[in-house]
Amino acid sequence: MAAYVCTTALVTGGASGIGRAIVEALCADGVRVFLADLDQDRAEEAVGMITRGGGAAEAHCVDVADSAGVTRLFSVLRGRCDRLDLLVNCAAIMGATTFIDDMSDREWDRVITVNLTGTFYCCREAVRWMKEHRHGRIINFSSVAALMPTPGAIHYSTSKAGVAQLTKTLAREVARYNLRVNAVAPGYVETPMLFKLDVKFKEQILRRTPLGRFALPNEIAALVRFLASPEADFFTGQVLSPNGGLVM
Ligand code: NAD
Repeated sequence: MAAYVCTTALVTGGASGIGRAIVEALCADGVRVFLADLDQDRAEEAVGMITRGGGAAEAHCVDVADSAGVTRLFSVLRGRCDRLDLLVNCAAIMGATTFIDDMSDREWDRVITVNLTGTFYCCREAVRWMKEHRHGRIINFSSVAALMPTPGAIHYSTSKAGVAQLTKTLAREVARYNLRVNAVAPGYVETPMLFKLDVKFKEQILRRTPLGRFALPNEIAALVRFLASPEADFFTGQVLSPNGGLVM
């Protein structure tokens, strides 16, 4: 088990898939976790299961694309604990599979706003708070789609490449305050997001993946645990991609 300096964490998008596996892993390590998600019912259901098992989790409803909503969330959290040790920005949407000539402004804007701007809003609030304590870790979610552009997902691929660059730039800005910022860029992972993809596309991905399978959410959560732990104290500005060898 990782020896956490971390006692409090905020995980956005924690109600489903990878985010939920991260919340469960952190709670199992004794971390108090604030699970923030747009889907309040699923967030409360996840928190109910975790607290029945002895974990310390709280559900909060937020749309990360709403700047004022993110500010409100952080002001509520500041009233709930003294400091935030870890922010994991997992919330994201994939958007519809559409080539550029058929993509509406609205579709482009929503994916960029949730995935990239939402990550920015949460990072900004976390940095303001963590700087006061000169301690904190931020883990953002990029994607293999940023490394291997995916036709039909120009909004998603671009948003995730933006998250990688945001991570590196922020890591340089805040290192002097003892804040570490890294990103995880998973390959394809068995979550509700993957279930939405076309069957033929998924078969093609499996054929091109040397390990011949998709990742499990807990394999990605294990990397987040490592990045959040003191063992990773020399990591900052890195984008780590567990992808089964799909991109080397
Ligand atoms: P998921 O769809 O299972 O979960 C995403 C969660 O984010 C959901 O609970 C959803 O309600 C929440 N969410 C969506 N929009 C939100 C908003 N505006 N505000 C707050 N919460 C919001 O997805 P997942 O597969 O677990 O993906 C987790 C992260 O990993 C995402 O950033 C995703 O882009 C990234 N990722 C996933 C895969 C994959 O194959 N599953 C691959 C690469 C990267």
